[in-house]
Amino acid sequence: MKLRPICKGCNKNHAAINYVKEGVRHYRSLCDPCGRKKNKLKPRLANWENAGYKKKNVCDYCGFKGIYPTQFTVFHIDGDLKNVNMVNLRTICLNCVEVVKRKEVTWKRGDLQVDY
Ligand SMILES: [Zn+2]
Ligand SMILES: [Zn+2]
Repeated sequence: MKLRPICKGCNKNHAAINYVKEGVRHYRSLCDPCGRKKNKLKPRLANWENAGYKKKNVCDYCGFKGIYPTQFTVFHIDGDLKNVNMVNLRTICLNCVEVVKRKEVTWKRGDLQVDY
């Protein structure tokens, strides 16, 4: 059995799994964080995620409590997707998205590029 290799980028983490074929795991040469660094042109994380903001399970707008993170989205109050200051970020349930879009015209969804 092939041992899981160590990342060639940082020499610290285990390499990420590339694919599994016939029960055999094939690995990449880099770990997940290093692989992501390499793919800088195609960021998979939203700006607010990179800034360390955690999507809540409660809507900041109506107080709705959700079960799944996909029931919520993160808005930038000033509409600037680069402004990841915590006071600029709000977790909004998908129900309130419609309300916010009409009322607070500057608010912008910050996670449209994230695929789940
Ligand atoms: Zn690494
Ligand atoms: Zn809500």
